[in-house]
Amino acid sequence: MELCIIGSGYVGLVSGACFAEIGHHVVCVDNDQRKVDALQAGKIPIYEPGLEDLVHRNVAAKRLRFTNSIEDGVDHSQIVFIAVPTPPQADGSVDLTYIERVAREIAGVLKPGQYRVVVDKSTVPVKTGEKVTETIKRYNKGADFDVVSNPEFLREGCAVPDLMNPDRVVIGSASQKATDLMKQVYEPFKAPILVTDINSAELIKHAANSFLSLKISYINAVAAICEASGADVEMVADGIGMDKRIGRNFLNAGLGYGGSCFPKDVKAFIAISKQLGTPFKLLEEVERINEGMLDRFIGKLRDVLWVLKDKHIAVWGLTFKPDTDDVRNSVAIELVNRLVAEGAHVTAYDPKGAEKAVEWKLLDPTKVKLVPTPIDAVNGAEALLLATEWKEFLNQDFAEVKARMHTPLIFDGRNLFNPGTMRELGFDYRAVGRP
Ligand code: NAD
Repeated sequence: MELCIIGSGYVGLVSGACFAEIGHHVVCVDNDQRKVDALQAGKIPIYEPGLEDLVHRNVAAKRLRFTNSIEDGVDHSQIVFIAVPTPPQADGSVDLTYIERVAREIAGVLKPGQYRVVVDKSTVPVKTGEKVTETIKRYNKGADFDVVSNPEFLREGCAVPDLMNPDRVVIGSASQKATDLMKQVYEPFKAPILVTDINSAELIKHAANSFLSLKISYINAVAAICEASGADVEMVADGIGMDKRIGRNFLNAGLGYGGSCFPKDVKAFIAISKQLGTPFKLLEEVERINEGMLDRFIGKLRDVLWVLKDKHIAVWGLTFKPDTDDVRNSVAIELVNRLVAEGAHVTAYDPKGAEKAVEWKLLDPTKVKLVPTPIDAVNGAEALLLATEWKEFLNQDFAEVKARMHTPLIFDGRNLFNPGTMRELGFDYRAVGRP
């Protein structure tokens, strides 16, 4: 099929590459000329395992191309996916200006007699589909189109396998013609397809991300009780998670959730529920617990180091999770910035995220020393803080780490290490919710 994706970021680019991989012809559109130039030159602007090969292979096979022209994309495609940002506003509600603009732009280039399915893949509040439909009609009276909601559930860090092998594909549609075309797009993935009305599809995404955030906050609240009682949250999580009704995933205590999705989607769902007159107070508690995790962590660090000013602190990890270069809303970055604000001398290492952290001005490289290896980060450190659970941190020479540190103190914000092993190696090791 001929497909167009508007917005070539984490969702749009990976979706485009995966659609091309299963045989569709895909045009990825972006209004960031630098991104389009880079992609046309074979450079992949984001790090996502497996993505580079996928893009190169499908560009070479002429199934995938990049442009800055929505008209080009819409002209050549039966189905037009929207995958632009939906950031939060100050009050937590979703900023829909990107979506509205794309809807107007699509309306501006739709030609008479050109039927198109306009698919919202961005995460949007319930009833956005109605607004997109109204907008396209307002700016193009004769347009022949249907709007579909097709929320995306990929996880950064494993976006390619998630897209190639999804748990489910949700298609929210009011038109049989559009539903049939959408089923045709996804048929090669052999995934379960759930067809719903548009409002339900939109709501599924916010409800799903809020539930996953709730699981994280739940286990973090349990971790605090474990700390107060001497129990071990990892054992408790194993014990809870072995119950098939609950499951072990997303029961990992630590610094809390971050990233470009969970914090904004929880905020959005709170705002949506308020606007609809059915406030979802449980989610306010989910947020409160999450926001308190970093305070608790820094508080425990302060309990040991007392004053943080002028202390040398090493931080391993900057991305919001491993296997991505995405540092948007990363708790690790917030941790670093809070330490810097207290006057600590922070040296940080991340396998993929340091460059974007500086490029996006989330870290000030004149205030944080960014180094090329984990070992470089620990020289003279009075504490090592593990902020992102990259696997490579497990394979360090810890005798060397200890030798280089001023004091062998580790605060593991992701419960990555085995406490017994770390203590045998001679570290004063502190984790979250573990004795
Ligand atoms: P992103 O910022 O990585 O990518 C968005 C892209 O859209 C950017 O390249 C930007 O230049 C482009 N863009 C903005 N306005 C445009 C316009 N008018 N025309 C053409 N291109 C335009 O964002 P993302 O992480 O891919 O997220 C996109 C949406 O998908 C959001 O709603 C997000 O909540 C949702 N989502 C994200 C993830 C994730 O893990 N990142 C997962 C599921 C859903």
